[in-house]
Amino acid sequence: MLFNVQRWSLHDGPGIRTTLFFKGCPLRCRWCSNPESWSFDSQLLFFRQRCSGCGACVEACPQGASQIVDGRAVLDRSRCTGCGQCVAACSSTAREVVGLDLPVADILRLLRRDAVFYRSSGGGVTFSGGEPFAQPGLLGQITEGCAVAGIPMAVETSGFFDLDDVHAILDEIDTIHVDLKHTDDAVHRRLTGVSNRLIIDNINRLDTMGRRLTLRIPLVHGLTDDASNIDGIIRLCRRLQHLAGIELLAYHPLGAGKYAGLDLPYDSSQAAPAPEAMQRMIHRMRDHHLNASWVGDLGERQ
Ligand code: SF4
Ligand code: SF4
Repeated sequence: MLFNVQRWSLHDGPGIRTTLFFKGCPLRCRWCSNPESWSFDSQLLFFRQRCSGCGACVEACPQGASQIVDGRAVLDRSRCTGCGQCVAACSSTAREVVGLDLPVADILRLLRRDAVFYRSSGGGVTFSGGEPFAQPGLLGQITEGCAVAGIPMAVETSGFFDLDDVHAILDEIDTIHVDLKHTDDAVHRRLTGVSNRLIIDNINRLDTMGRRLTLRIPLVHGLTDDASNIDGIIRLCRRLQHLAGIELLAYHPLGAGKYAGLDLPYDSSQAAPAPEAMQRMIHRMRDHHLNASWVGDLGERQ
């Protein structure tokens, strides 16, 4: 299952791209801007502040998951199956379903339609998420179809996957971006809910296999921008033989509204490091002959 298809993307690899966002992720990064990507199932986003209290969703819901309390709809998530029947009923656009169960043939048709733009710009398709490798069946079918159609492929992964299970898929993919959040395992567990050992192991194995990869580091002030993390990343990267580059991604709060829509708590105290601090990190990495750049909210590089 996907949760978004973004055409004309310029920031998820070279050229003009179509980015397929896979739904479902084994990590729970505290700063995640796509909390709707966590669950592997379709989900209802409910924007309570837009609700007029008309009650149409109560009528439409086969599960009895919505009711009106004090003039506004209240959603019982334990009953909601994410079927989306209430979405069309809501004239206030207070409801939206995330989760696209598109047939592979339809996805490939969409990609083939844009192939002319990929060719003229050096672009292609990017598999993002969520964690694309967490759905090897779907990803494998799409990569097979793209290989036949000659569509270049890139992946953006958390690195948290069983490499032995996805070798054949990886062989088809041209460009690999792996996220690394923190080099200290205990800190990584605290910030993301999982150990970093598999991720670092996969980075090293991909490098040993001769795969060029770009490491992406999300930077959140006070969480991932400490000197020991930057030192750890430099040490790791200096050992890699085929590193294409390091991209520093500054935290942005653009996902805040989606937390509210999913009834999830959001930590509004999080912030990006100061621009001068980001520049210092980049210079430190470049001092070690690492190809580091800072990718802004809009995908611009510095
Ligand atoms: S998504 Fe389906 S189950 Fe959930 S509230 Fe809407 S109609 Fe009910
Ligand atoms: S249909 Fe939309 S506006 Fe009407 S009560 Fe339900 S959520 Fe609110």
